[in-house]
Amino acid sequence: MKLWQEYLRPNSISEAVQALTSSPGQACVIAGGTDLLLDIQQGRHSNVHTLVDITSIPELNQLEVRRDLLYIGATVSLNRIASSPLAIEHAQALAEASRLIGGPQVRNVATLGGNVAHALPAADGTIAMMSLDTQVLVASQENIREVPLQKMFLGAGKTALSTGKELIAGFCIPLRKKNQASAFKRIMRSQGIALPIINLSAWLQREGDRIVDLRIAAGPAGATPRRIASVEDLLRGNTIKDGLISDAVCELLDQIQFRTSPQRATAEYRHHLVKLLLVDTLLEAWDRAG
Ligand SMILES: Cc1cc2nc3c(=O)[nH]c(=O)nc-3n(C[C@H](O)[C@H](O)[C@H](O)COP(=O)(O)OP(=O)(O)OC[C@H]3O[C@@H](n4cnc5c(N)ncnc54)[C@H](O)[C@@H]3O)c2cc1C
Repeated sequence: MKLWQEYLRPNSISEAVQALTSSPGQACVIAGGTDLLLDIQQGRHSNVHTLVDITSIPELNQLEVRRDLLYIGATVSLNRIASSPLAIEHAQALAEASRLIGGPQVRNVATLGGNVAHALPAADGTIAMMSLDTQVLVASQENIREVPLQKMFLGAGKTALSTGKELIAGFCIPLRKKNQASAFKRIMRSQGIALPIINLSAWLQREGDRIVDLRIAAGPAGATPRRIASVEDLLRGNTIKDGLISDAVCELLDQIQFRTSPQRATAEYRHHLVKLLLVDTLLEAWDRAG
């Protein structure tokens, strides 16, 4: 049985959007295919008529500085991000997350756009970018609009993209300034099991002993990838000391309702691990920012 009817490989964003909108049946973007092909083969995806392969579009494969932003095209592979000097300098949490995803074969083809568009609450690249104040460039037939990454997710596996009409073109991340840094850490079972037991990403700016500003994201912390705003509020403007970090840990535990997942871990185990993960990740970003 054919799993799809038509496979198109456009060379530009406008051709890709055109291919999506003019398909006689359901059309779907394919990038690395590491999530999508399994979903189709294992019956977790609705019927697909047309697959639109976006990996030959040069604009989507750029990774470069554009004015005061780091631009990463949607089809840039996770391996390329992991070893990119620009990503390591300006988006360290993302480079670290990209280095940990799957194994080498997966990272060679899996893309950042696919990681975000699949919309899983603990997707590593997505959680890292949540802490980096990322804007998503969404292309439609009309225009390319900017959407804050946090607003991209409507539920588990559900994005704000208009299906069959829009695609993610790329991501813009503010360049790192003096005394700013980020870090990403995760706890996982053996390599090869998709997604971590738990992950956490932190970005912060320090001035002497004070946290001037920060962003923290953790997964899985609900139905969508999310920032933990009340922990950020508690830490922002304060001096790093033991009491403050303990308060932050308590607040984090209050905010996240973990669930038990048969393949990964119980809610209780995640609850226990997240305390260590917050302290480790925060202090790593703190040291780097110094
Ligand atoms: C063995 C294995 C281990 C893995 N381990 C991890 C892990 O540790 N951490 C983790 O986070 N993930 C993991 N994954 C999941 C997966 O590899 C990543 O989510 C990957 O980044 C998906 O990218 P892709 O290019 O392969 O997406 P695809 O499979 O091509 O697409 C995924 C979804 O996104 C849509 N899509 C893709 N690109 C776009 C775009 N530009 N615009 C709009 N929609 C788009 C597709 O239509 C599809 O719905 C693993 C997968 C496997 C098979």
